[in-house]
Amino acid sequence: MKDLILKNGRVVTPTQVIEGGVVVHNGVIEFVGADSELGRAHQEIDVKGMIIFPGMMDPHCHLGSGDERSFEFMKESFAQDTQDALIGGVTSIATTTVLKPDPLPENYKNTLEAGVGQSHVDFKITSVVTRDHHVADIPEVMELGCSSFKFYTGYCGCLAEKMGMNPDGIPPSVFYQACEFASQSSRPRPIMMIHAEEPTVRFMLADRFKESGKNTLLDWAEHSPEWSESVQVYQYGVIAHQFHLPLYVVHISKAHTIDFIRGLQQQGYPIVGETLVSFLSTTAQDLMDRKVGIYGKIQPPIRYHSDQEVLWKSLVDGVVTAIGTDSIPYTSKYKDHFPFWEARPGLNIQLLDSLPLLLTEGIHKGRLDYLQLAKVVAEGPARHFSVFPQKGAIQPGSDADFIVIDPDKEYPLGRHRSLGHNDYSIWEGKKVKGEVVQTFLRGQLVAQQGEIVSHAKGEHLKGGRI
Ligand SMILES: [Zn+2]
Repeated sequence: MKDLILKNGRVVTPTQVIEGGVVVHNGVIEFVGADSELGRAHQEIDVKGMIIFPGMMDPHCHLGSGDERSFEFMKESFAQDTQDALIGGVTSIATTTVLKPDPLPENYKNTLEAGVGQSHVDFKITSVVTRDHHVADIPEVMELGCSSFKFYTGYCGCLAEKMGMNPDGIPPSVFYQACEFASQSSRPRPIMMIHAEEPTVRFMLADRFKESGKNTLLDWAEHSPEWSESVQVYQYGVIAHQFHLPLYVVHISKAHTIDFIRGLQQQGYPIVGETLVSFLSTTAQDLMDRKVGIYGKIQPPIRYHSDQEVLWKSLVDGVVTAIGTDSIPYTSKYKDHFPFWEARPGLNIQLLDSLPLLLTEGIHKGRLDYLQLAKVVAEGPARHFSVFPQKGAIQPGSDADFIVIDPDKEYPLGRHRSLGHNDYSIWEGKKVKGEVVQTFLRGQLVAQQGEIVSHAKGEHLKGGRI
């Protein structure tokens, strides 16, 4: 007798969609196949009409770096906000260390301590390199299991200082040294992640727009030129390539960047592309039509319909291989009461709505299929963060992280669905089609129809790059 069987569904594996189910024992998937071959288990669930889909991995979260930046706040954020992840079908995340000048190993250990015992999902930690002295810490923090480093190359001046960086931000010289240290480690090579968005022209335009009284989300989209991502992708990508390190470009927003990265990938540059659920699901104009206002201000900006179509195609042709949310635990007090250009950029915790939005805008509009979606929300992130095949796939030997989806259920999104620390939603009232009915983490049913039904302990994922 096995522990658990789900049967009578359509199972999304890495290579095909199978009519049948999955067999789970000791938290691991033992078998995937037709109902007649599943055998018997202590618990058997009939999921007729439903899709069995891999638990998603969100590669881009900033727990503990929103309303406050502290480990205490991070602890709260792990405890509260990861509930939304489970309800939304996200079973693993990668989240950043707190933006602090502390040595990287200390920051990493404190982040780990904030997550263990609090997190409802399994997690990886991305170390944020904010200071020159951090680069020498890289080999040591890699020994602790860190396989991803984040560089805010898109900031300089006082905005960089507010984020705990030097006024010159992360110039190529600092990134170069970081690559030197990362490539000296005996551990498998990490990913080097950049927020690509050339800052000096952007800041000049922001001042100009502000003085002329422009203050809408379309102006926000316009102040960050279409080449602002690609110029940094080239500069930092060439440096990373010299050290045989993959450059991971977070939150790609522009069609121009996609075309540019495609060219570099064809020349053999190991560039990894990530985009955001919000970039795929809305536009500056749509946010304005829905009067979302300052809550829709994110860096880089949510842009135009023409960009959105190219981003969707990039998921199908493989230029972009990861989708994240850039979830930050913000409440309205850091958005309201500020003039447009002064309010902090960034969305709030978005983990709940990823799948319904991607099903509605992607699957139901015929922009991609279930196999392609699984590649970019589960397998791709797991591979980039060195936890594939333990995570990211429904196949024998992988952790039993999967979700049951009712593809036809229609309902409105909104704040009322969240157990996280959100007090607003940029998706308020948006009608979606497709619901996460059940979420399983390592074989345990943890969330069901919008509620947490058992408290699994999230684990820190070490994993070395394969
Ligand atoms: Zn981010």
